[in-house]
Amino acid sequence: MYLSYVFFYTCDRCRSDGKSENEMNNLDEERSNNTGVSILSMRGGDGHNSYATNSLLQRRVLSMSKPILVKNTKEMMTNLDFPKCIKISDLGCSSGQNTFLAMSEIVNTINALCQERNQNPPEIDCCLNDLPGNDFNTTFKFISFFNEKLTSNTPCFVSGVPGSFYSRLFPSKSLHFIHSNYSVNYPSKVPEGLEKNKMGVYITSSSPLSEYKAYLNQFQKDFTTFLRMRSEEMVSNGRMVITLFGRNTIDDPLYRDCCHHLTLLSDSLRDLVIEGLVSASTVNSFNMPFYDPTEEEVNEIIRNEGSFQINDLETHAFDLGHSKEESSLQLCRAKPGEKEANCVRAAIETMLVAHFGDAISIDTLFAKYAHHVSQHASCMNKTSVTLVVSLVRK
Ligand code: SAH
Repeated sequence: MYLSYVFFYTCDRCRSDGKSENEMNNLDEERSNNTGVSILSMRGGDGHNSYATNSLLQRRVLSMSKPILVKNTKEMMTNLDFPKCIKISDLGCSSGQNTFLAMSEIVNTINALCQERNQNPPEIDCCLNDLPGNDFNTTFKFISFFNEKLTSNTPCFVSGVPGSFYSRLFPSKSLHFIHSNYSVNYPSKVPEGLEKNKMGVYITSSSPLSEYKAYLNQFQKDFTTFLRMRSEEMVSNGRMVITLFGRNTIDDPLYRDCCHHLTLLSDSLRDLVIEGLVSASTVNSFNMPFYDPTEEEVNEIIRNEGSFQINDLETHAFDLGHSKEESSLQLCRAKPGEKEANCVRAAIETMLVAHFGDAISIDTLFAKYAHHVSQHASCMNKTSVTLVVSLVRK
């Protein structure tokens, strides 16, 4: 097995889309305004509050999407007639081992299929992408976990690719397979035109419809850009498997249940305001760069963009409580609601600190959050929705 750790910086100017200098300048300007992107990093390291330790929910989503991942990997290999070299990428890999769960599944599936069909296994280029502020070092420290998961001696070359997936990350027609778990939910920025919504940090049932429309527009714009960029980078018949935190189609567009993680965050911030620990105006000016689309919304964007054929588009429900076998000893001893609070904290602490600075105590905020979770005992049984999408590059 060959493992190389290459950290290459992608050149935004290396475009194959024939954009004029003016268009490029506009894009650059748009990108530099993307404040959402620069603050969007999961908490690094592997400590108690880190993303690596608290990404259990995302790990459960990975096992849910495994059958679709395996099926699409096999179909990609067969349709491309067993290429000698395969380039795969995980977009929004974050810090921790989750990315290697998906990567090892893809590599092992390719190997098993090659053995079954009497084909030589290909060399595999595994490219791990996230924003430049991501703690790639922690991810790379889990490389031995990746090696242990591999069931054969496939030549794998692992590298990090820092950059936004709303821009070009790879040379034209170079990628065979893309995976992305719970990352495309993050737009390039907080949408413009949000009205004040009584300390809600995201869409709630008391938001005006215009707020939902602003978030949806931003998602439509960003997801279309995401698909356009990937369509340039992928070979024809290449595959992409994406999972997203979603919501049910039948719901009122403003409906988010009381256990939605951002509703609980709004409740916790409101507590701090009531206790005089932060001003209402500081909380009012905070809005989350996040969107949880429905299957229909995702379907429409993919069809309108036009470069991909939908192979699978499934809505899976699952409860938000952590299963026992996933809980480490440390987590078993946690107070009620603390596990959930830690998961959300690891994912959004950087954004909160960027907005609030020293104006709030993050420990106090998440103690409130844990309290709210414990007040909603039914939250543990409530179901959340995950969308699993697989696409074929036309
Ligand atoms: N896929 C991982 C991480 C999910 S958290 C897992 O399953 O555990 C979402 C990740 O997406 C974060 O690490 C965040 O930094 C990354 N992300 C968000 N917007 C991004 C963008 N525009 N480009 C690249 N990565 C992005």
